[in-house]
Amino acid sequence: MHEAETVLVPNDTTRSEREFRDLLRRLELALDASQIGVWEHDLQQNEISWDLQMHRLYMTGLTGGKVSTAVWADAIHPDDRERAEQDFSDAVARRGQYNSEFRIIWPNGEIRHIRSRAHFYISDDGAPSFIGAEWDVTADVLLTDEAARQRTVAEARALDLEQSAARVEYAAEHDYLTGLPNRRLFDKRLAQLVDDPAALKLAVLHLDLDEFKQINDTYGHAAGDVVLRAAATRIKAALPKGAVAARIGGDEFVIILVNFGSIDELRDVARDLQRRLRKKIRFGREQLQSGASIGVSCSIDRKRANLLAESDIALYQAKASGRDRIEFFTQQLKDDLMGRRRIAEELRTALTEGEIVPFYQLQVDARTRAVVGLEALARWKHKDRGVLLPGEFLKVADEYGLTAEIDSIMLRRVLEDRRTWEGRGAQVPRIAVNISGQRLYDPLLSKELLALNVPRNAIVFELIETIFLDDCDDELLESVERIKQMGIEIEIDDFGSGHASLIGLVRLRPTRLKIDRQLVDAVDTSDEQRRVVKSIIEIAKALGVKVIAEGVETEKHAETLAKLGCDALQGFALGRPAPASEIDRLFEAATVD
Ligand code: C2E
Ligand code: CA
Ligand code: CA
Repeated sequence: MHEAETVLVPNDTTRSEREFRDLLRRLELALDASQIGVWEHDLQQNEISWDLQMHRLYMTGLTGGKVSTAVWADAIHPDDRERAEQDFSDAVARRGQYNSEFRIIWPNGEIRHIRSRAHFYISDDGAPSFIGAEWDVTADVLLTDEAARQRTVAEARALDLEQSAARVEYAAEHDYLTGLPNRRLFDKRLAQLVDDPAALKLAVLHLDLDEFKQINDTYGHAAGDVVLRAAATRIKAALPKGAVAARIGGDEFVIILVNFGSIDELRDVARDLQRRLRKKIRFGREQLQSGASIGVSCSIDRKRANLLAESDIALYQAKASGRDRIEFFTQQLKDDLMGRRRIAEELRTALTEGEIVPFYQLQVDARTRAVVGLEALARWKHKDRGVLLPGEFLKVADEYGLTAEIDSIMLRRVLEDRRTWEGRGAQVPRIAVNISGQRLYDPLLSKELLALNVPRNAIVFELIETIFLDDCDDELLESVERIKQMGIEIEIDDFGSGHASLIGLVRLRPTRLKIDRQLVDAVDTSDEQRRVVKSIIEIAKALGVKVIAEGVETEKHAETLAKLGCDALQGFALGRPAPASEIDRLFEAATVD
C-alpha cells in the first residue's frame, strides 16, 4: 500500500517543471497555430518585447526580441494611430484592461486589421507592465464590411423599389394631364365610400365639358389640354370638404360628395361648377370658352350600387336637352333611355334588312288637280309591330345619329321605285324626299349623289330642319348649291311653323316652299291665318318661289288655297301616303291624259 503510494506520488518538483515546460510548449504551439502574437510592454523602461508571431503580424522580418514603441506606432495606419495610442494611454491611466482595434500597413503597402487585448500587471521586479495578445482580424472585418455594404445596397434597392412602386401606383391611379385621380382610383374611392357607414349620403356629379370637341378640332390638342387643366383646377377649387374629383374620360369629370345637406345644395354645387367652368380661358391670343353639362345621382339610404351609371344616364339626358344643363337621375329617365336604346338597336338592324321603305303621297296641281309630284315618307315595316310612322322612330334616330342613314336609304329606294315605274312606261312626276340637317352637312353627300347618278329634275329635297335657316352658314349654302347644280330642287318644308325666316328664304333660294300644316288647318276658319297664308304666297311669288300647301284635309281647304294662289296641294283630301305598289296606278291614271 505504502509502496504503491510512493510509486504513484513521484517527486513533485520534477513533475511540475516537466509539466510546466510541456504547458509552455503546448501554449507556444497553440499560439503559433492560432497566429496570435504576444507582447509585453514595460512601462517603466518603455520597452516592448514581441514574440515571433508579433513580428510576423507586423512583417518586421525579425523573429523576436525588443522593439521600440515607434515600431508599433509607425506601423499603424495614420488614420487610426491617434486613436490606438489614446486607447493605450487610457488603459495605462486606468491600470486596467486595454482593448483596441486598428489598421496597420505592411511594408508592402497592404493594409491589415489588428485586434489587440492586454492586461495591466506588476512584473516580478515591480515594474508596471502590460501583457497582451494581438491577432489579425482582416478577414472578419472585410466580411463584416461586405455584409454591411450588402445590407446598405439591399436597403437602398428596397427603398428604390418602394419608391418606384409608389410612383407606378400613383401613375396608375392619376391622370397625367390634370393630376386628378383617374377612373381606377375613383372606382376604388367610391367603393370605399359605398361601404362606409359614416357616409350617410352620397352623390355623384358627372360632368362633361360642352364645346370641348370643337375647341380641340379648331385650336388643336394643346388648346384642349389647356382647357382640361383649367377645368381640373376650377373643379378642385369648387369642391366642398371631403369631396373627391376625378377625370374619367376625355372631357369627363366626376365628383363624389359625401354627406351633403340637401338636393338643393347639390344643385347649388352643380351651378357653382357650371359658373366657374364657363369662364374664359386664355390660350395664346385666343380666349377659349367651354361650359359643362352635369348629371347628378344621389342616395340618402343604403341602396347605392349604381351611382356612377345613374349619373351617366342623367348626364346623357342633360346633354340631349341642350348645353349647360343639370339633370338629376330618376328611374323614369333610365326606363326611357333603355327604351330608346332598344329602338335604336332595332332600327340599326331594320336599316340593314330593308325594313325602312318609302310610302308615297300625291301632290296635285291646285287648279287642275293633276298629279305633279310625290312626297316619299319613311315607314318602318316592323316585324312585330306593323308599319311604324316616323313619329315613332325619327327622334331616336336623330339621337343615335341614324337619320342621315335613313335619308340615304330612302333616296336609294325612291330611285329604285322610280326606275321600276318608268320601266313600265309611266311618266313619273318629281319625287320629294325629306332630308335632315345631319345629312346636308355630311361632306360625303355630293359624292354619294354623283355615284347614284340621280336623274336631273326628278328629285326634290325637302329641308325638314328649318332651324338653320336663320343663321344658315356658308358650309350649308355651299352644300345646297352643289345639290342644285346636280339638278335636284330644294324645297323648304314646314314654312310658317315658326322656324323658317324670310332671310333664310332669300339666301337659300329654294324652288319651292311648303306651307305648314298648322297654317293650312285654320285657313278657312280664321281670317288672320288666311291673311298670313296669303302674304306668304305673295312674298314667295315676289321671290320667284313656288308654293305648295300640306295638310290639305278637306275640299274646302283645297279650294281656299287654290284661290289664294297656291301652286300645289298635298293632304289626306287628295290622297294618303301609300306603298309603292299602290301609288303608281294613281299617277299613271292621272298623267295618262
Ligand atoms: P313632313 O315632311 O311634314 O311630312 C308630312 C307629314 O304629314 C307626313 O307624316 C304625312 O303623313 C302627314 N300628312 C300628310 N297629309 C296630311 C293631312 O292631310 N293631315 C295631316 N294631319 N297630316 C298629313 P309622316 O309620314 O308621319 O311624317 C312625319 C314627318 O317625318 C315628316 O313630316 C318628316 O318631317 C319626317 N319624315 C318622313 N320621312 C322622312 C325621311 O325619309 N327622312 C327624314 N329625315 N324625315 C322624314
Ligand atoms: Ca316633308
Ligand atoms: Ca311638313
